[in-house]
Amino acid sequence: MSTEKTLFSKIIDRELPADIVHEDDKCIVIKDINPKARIHLLVIPEKPIPTLFDLTPEDKDVMGHMMLLLPQLAKTQELDGFKTQINTGESGGQEVFHIHIHLLGD
Ligand code: AMP
Repeated sequence: MSTEKTLFSKIIDRELPADIVHEDDKCIVIKDINPKARIHLLVIPEKPIPTLFDLTPEDKDVMGHMMLLLPQLAKTQELDGFKTQINTGESGGQEVFHIHIHLLGD
């Protein structure tokens, strides 16, 4: 794992600004800076896991936590349906190498 802080770790550490929608002891949720839908949130674990390929069994808890958070966020945003996306690897369209779940809704 690179020692260089990821863009999202800098946001979590308040070194860069972001529109924060939710934060708890495991993850942060921000508005995407370049929204592809009316509501476009990014659910980001505090732990800077680069991609889904890097997950280990110890990450089950945080990944489960983020999955359970998705419908709660959708309700808060008054969405009755939404899409999720996890881009993985350069060829999977991933630009920021710190796992994040896109939550998109119109
Ligand atoms: P991905 O292609 O899955 O790695 O997605 C990265 C996402 O991060 C893109 O949708 C970007 O618009 C978004 N993004 C990049 N920089 C920022 C930022 N500073 N604040 C919020 N979202 C960002």
